[in-house]
Amino acid sequence: MTLAERARRVIPGGVNSGQRSIPGLTDLVITRTQGSRFWDSTGREFTDYHAAFGPPLLGHNDPDVAAAVAAARASLSLTGVAVTEGEVLLAEQLAELVPSIEKVLLTSTGSEATFHALRLARAVTGRRLVVKFQGCYHGWHDAVSLNVISAPDRIGRPDPTSTGILPEVLDATLVLRFNDVEAVRRAFADHGDDIAAVILEPVPHNVGALLPTDDFLRTLREECTRAGSVLVFDEVITGFRHALGGYQEVAGIVPDLTTLGKAIANGAPVGALGGRADLMEHFSSRPGGPVFFAGTYNGHPDVVAAASATVRKLREEPVHEHVFRLGDRVRRELDALYRRLDVPVVVTGFGSVFVTYFMPGPAPRSYDDLLANDASRFVGYRRRLVEQGVFELPLNLKRSHLSYAHTDADVDRLLEATERAVGAMLAD
Ligand code: PMP
Repeated sequence: MTLAERARRVIPGGVNSGQRSIPGLTDLVITRTQGSRFWDSTGREFTDYHAAFGPPLLGHNDPDVAAAVAAARASLSLTGVAVTEGEVLLAEQLAELVPSIEKVLLTSTGSEATFHALRLARAVTGRRLVVKFQGCYHGWHDAVSLNVISAPDRIGRPDPTSTGILPEVLDATLVLRFNDVEAVRRAFADHGDDIAAVILEPVPHNVGALLPTDDFLRTLREECTRAGSVLVFDEVITGFRHALGGYQEVAGIVPDLTTLGKAIANGAPVGALGGRADLMEHFSSRPGGPVFFAGTYNGHPDVVAAASATVRKLREEPVHEHVFRLGDRVRRELDALYRRLDVPVVVTGFGSVFVTYFMPGPAPRSYDDLLANDASRFVGYRRRLVEQGVFELPLNLKRSHLSYAHTDADVDRLLEATERAVGAMLAD
């Protein structure tokens, strides 16, 4: 029996996340990672553009991060009491770097960070409703488990991503269209007094890349301020990846709360929730704070060491310069290639994140626009890349990532593999 078959006997579906069960790849067993690559149990090598959904901005097994974690491990393990120097230094750095963060708490995942952000917003406002946007993902918990990727007939009404969620929870969420300023104004006009929070990915990368308009982000800021609602930027993907200060630094809009995760620790299990001190002070980490906050592994020394080493490297080395240059090159040259082959696509993204939608332009601005994307071509193209050892996740609307470890030679291989993949698709 193969390892994958043994996995399916003892692990439901044979994998540890609903996002890892990929049609056509059910026999894949990963054995090693390094830099921009991973290897499977048959010895095949892949250039990794999936990048674990985003954490390894420096690349897999970054030597400086690995050394910092090893050093921490040699001297410190979890005690579950008080605080460590590493936690203080990391919190100071986050508060310095991210415009909205005055105070910050660590969690082990991004989902925990968004969970606590929304509970805090409901607690401090005494209100019920949360506004989210079709196409944004904020984790697996009930309050946000709806309307990420929806069938056309489910857009515009609650579309849970799971069974087992109470209807009352779904009813407490208003789902709006991303970049729709009028819909935001209407929601606040109709329900402003009952809106506890607005949560969004400032760039919805869970459906590839929808770039926000300045007007949209400014309107959210204005309406939340006027209504006394809490504006939450979920920067679990964009935090550190798009700038050390997150996309809020790029956009020049300061939310009330920010959630972080993924790239801030280059792959160690992390989440963070930070923001206005007057809001954060409600958490029970402060004696008497009424909003319960806990977690056995919060601020784990390994994770803190990984995050601190990641911050140091991002500050000291030209990581952003490198990944932005490669990202621009990928987008520019993929676009030129498809034009030459006369295949209508939109190649878009931001910085190190890129995606090719199989649809005519212009670039999509909301989830509805993505209904024009040809899902079978999107997935078919990526399956043909994977066959050639270039790993972009073969699932519809998923984004791809570059890291500091990716090279121009890696990008050359991606372009060559794309030319062959598209040639084969056109011949079918
Ligand atoms: N928010 C966003 C924007 C995400 O992309 C994710 C994870 N893909 C999460 C929250 C949840 O993070 P985690 O998987 O670490 O719980």
